[in-house]
Amino acid sequence: MTDPVYETDAPVLVETQNGVCWLTMNRPRYGNAQNSQMTYALDAAITAANADDTVKVIVLRGGGKNFSGGHDIGTPGRDAHVSFKRVSNWYDHVGRPGAEMQFAREMEVYLGMCRRWREGPKPMIASIHGACIAGGLMLAWVCDLIIATEDAHFADPVLHMGFPGVEYFAHAFELPPRIARELVLLGEPLSATRAHSLGMVNKIVSKEHLESETARIAARILAMPNFGLALARQAFNNTEDLQGKRAAMDMAFGLHHLAHAHNSLTAEDNIAGLSGRDMAQINRKDKI
Ligand code: ZN
Repeated sequence: MTDPVYETDAPVLVETQNGVCWLTMNRPRYGNAQNSQMTYALDAAITAANADDTVKVIVLRGGGKNFSGGHDIGTPGRDAHVSFKRVSNWYDHVGRPGAEMQFAREMEVYLGMCRRWREGPKPMIASIHGACIAGGLMLAWVCDLIIATEDAHFADPVLHMGFPGVEYFAHAFELPPRIARELVLLGEPLSATRAHSLGMVNKIVSKEHLESETARIAARILAMPNFGLALARQAFNNTEDLQGKRAAMDMAFGLHHLAHAHNSLTAEDNIAGLSGRDMAQINRKDKI
């Protein structure tokens, strides 16, 4: 594999204002596709925001036309084969044989990081416009609140690659069961309006009001005591986990990796030989 060619040294922009830390994914040329450079930058920024006493709320948003098109499976900055300084106890994935490589990598950068972010003490708001696809959903779902523009849309089309959903399998907890099945089995996008009517999105706003409305909602949270916010987050996380969320995710993660292994045995690679371009074409065709 060739070395990644990064188009930026700052895949996440960080700006703290009045107690709110705004994290803006900054790969607009590639729809904010998440390479490891970006996921590690997000992890560092979220960890720093959680440690910073001047920050009370964390906002996650995308620069350019979209929130996030998902995990990077085909830009020049794709760096799945590169070692990074790890943040979990998992050993480096690079050079591991068979299914071990992908499993170790995704325990660290996908399931592991999403759980770390969900389990942090400070409330997170996803401020979403445009596409929120596959790995993009994972970022939205770790947040406490989701605010979306009218043009936002949500999709998990990875069954085209044989996967029973993305690595962070929160589908059936974010949506009613039939709709969660529909999201995965059809791979079609949910409009912001439908996602709102189903309770997955808290509020829909026009594009020009996304930032101001996100700031207004963040300001409401600023009025609450820090420790109370952390306890509330824990209470909701623990409730969901008692309802089976954590165990369901562990189970689905295993199946997701059976699909990676199956792809490696039966197709060109562990994502069924589908390129970023193929998936973009599928997403364009399905676009609402
Ligand atoms: Zn995967």
